[in-house]
Amino acid sequence: MNKEDKNIERCSWVNLKNEIYIYYHDNEWGVEKHDDNELFEMLILEGAQAGLAWETVLNKRYNYRIAFDNFDPKIVSNYDEQKYEELLQNKGIIRNRLKIRSAIRNAKVFIEIQKEFASFDSYIWAFVNGKPIVNSFTKENAPAKTELSDIISKDLKKRGMNFVGSTIIYAYMQSIGMVNDHEINCFKHKR
Ligand SMILES: [Zn+2]
Repeated sequence: MNKEDKNIERCSWVNLKNEIYIYYHDNEWGVEKHDDNELFEMLILEGAQAGLAWETVLNKRYNYRIAFDNFDPKIVSNYDEQKYEELLQNKGIIRNRLKIRSAIRNAKVFIEIQKEFASFDSYIWAFVNGKPIVNSFTKENAPAKTELSDIISKDLKKRGMNFVGSTIIYAYMQSIGMVNDHEINCFKHKR
């Protein structure tokens, strides 16, 4: 199937005018991620999204990669005040004080979780026993959060993270493939 084909059916939220968005939907969203740096990347991007359109963040993703040292949590966790100020001046990313602070703070917690569970991957995937949840929603009945995202959100908050509310975490679970929520009409929906 031609990935650039705009006539095939996709989830209703995809902006078909944006190649970046189409690519993300077709190749990443709902696909299992197990690499810790990638898991960290999505956590930061989903947190940065809060209150904004996902497309806004997605369009800035490359800038984020440059600004945040390829989302290496070890490096990000060691950012000092000077680096924080630098990020605040970076027009390529979302310049929100709380979001930038939380990215650094969450990196520290991320490292703690890696220490405790050997990897963030083993920590986060244990919530679904390593197996993705495959749903069959339409755009009308897709949930914004679930009981499980509540539980994960609560645990991450307890560990000291912020910008990890249940809605952010549910979007995170979708983005790393813990849940597969491609709408039933979408060509990516698992039948
Ligand atoms: Zn889809």
